[in-house]
Amino acid sequence: MVATMAGYIAKNKLRPRAEWQKTVIVDEDSSNPFRIIHTLRTDGQRESHPMINKRFPIVLMLEPLHACNLTCTGCGRIREYESTIRERLTAAECIAASDECGAPIVSICGGEPFLHPEIHTMTAGIIEKGRHVILCTNGMFLRKKAKDFQPSTNLFFNVHLDGLQKNHDIAVEREGVYQEAIEGIKHAKSLGFQVMTNTTVYKETDMNEIWQLFEYLETLGVDGHAISPAYGYSAVNDREIFMTREDIIEKFKDIEKFDKRFPLTHNPVFLEFLSGKRELPCTAWGNPTYNVKGWKGPCYLITDNHYKTFEDLMTKTRWNDYGAGNDPRCEHCMVHCGYEPSAALGINGKFMDTFKQISWLLSK
Ligand code: SF4
Repeated sequence: MVATMAGYIAKNKLRPRAEWQKTVIVDEDSSNPFRIIHTLRTDGQRESHPMINKRFPIVLMLEPLHACNLTCTGCGRIREYESTIRERLTAAECIAASDECGAPIVSICGGEPFLHPEIHTMTAGIIEKGRHVILCTNGMFLRKKAKDFQPSTNLFFNVHLDGLQKNHDIAVEREGVYQEAIEGIKHAKSLGFQVMTNTTVYKETDMNEIWQLFEYLETLGVDGHAISPAYGYSAVNDREIFMTREDIIEKFKDIEKFDKRFPLTHNPVFLEFLSGKRELPCTAWGNPTYNVKGWKGPCYLITDNHYKTFEDLMTKTRWNDYGAGNDPRCEHCMVHCGYEPSAALGINGKFMDTFKQISWLLSK
């Protein structure tokens, strides 16, 4: 996955699809023939070359269905897509969407993907095309369904765990879920699968508990952890458990200690962002979302439109209208790919980020 991602980023930086860059003003800069190096402006300030900000998909968020066996407190999907909760995409439609988008990593989420009767054929079909699949699950069906899959370096099971037993079961609003997810992880590891976990940090989360959780998961041989803040957005922001940008920065002030101790899957640029060391622009285009209604724009969180084609999403979305300071709905957003080793944010922003990103990838 690391090698694929490093090659993909380099290729797309150097040869971006012109039609996806339409709303970016690209100044041809004859003094800068290499095109990826900063420009020295007349006022003496350095300005990243527009090539640094090229748009291309990194991780496809594929939602074959929104139905779920749980009703987790923080889930926006089961609320936003209530009217289509019984609909689902076929495996063929999912594989076609993954081809249409071309992102090297496909995160299959939902809903609960294991409820889809063709989940194993869909996963195998996407992997067959050379892509990497991160299959996100609440873990309740992992013990039963793992046998339908082939262990592969292109496949991760990504199990949702928001805390130790008591608090995780509160977050998912059902007793016994934590224990079943743990049994699922043990089983998947015994069959030779790669397993990672995905933790959402809420206003009430005690980061010491997350540390203990990761220490325990280490004893089970878990391969990596994604950790993300619960921030308010349109489908869920009436709830008190979500954090503002200031809350998040306070909560994640020690994230670098976590990163040193545990195999976090976020790149260093995203961690700087989380701990408030820097601001990053919106990179919604890096994580396109496809579901039963089509290509969801502009992003995983906000729905202003569903487009029929990926091309439409990339060319018809007014990307520059979004992001903190441009749209009030984006104010507390700290969105990221979540569990891939490239977090789209790391390929944008500053010139050195691309190199930081690639050297981080190669150090993994
Ligand atoms: S800044 Fe706004 S548009 Fe961009 S990813 Fe966040 S919520 Fe979506």
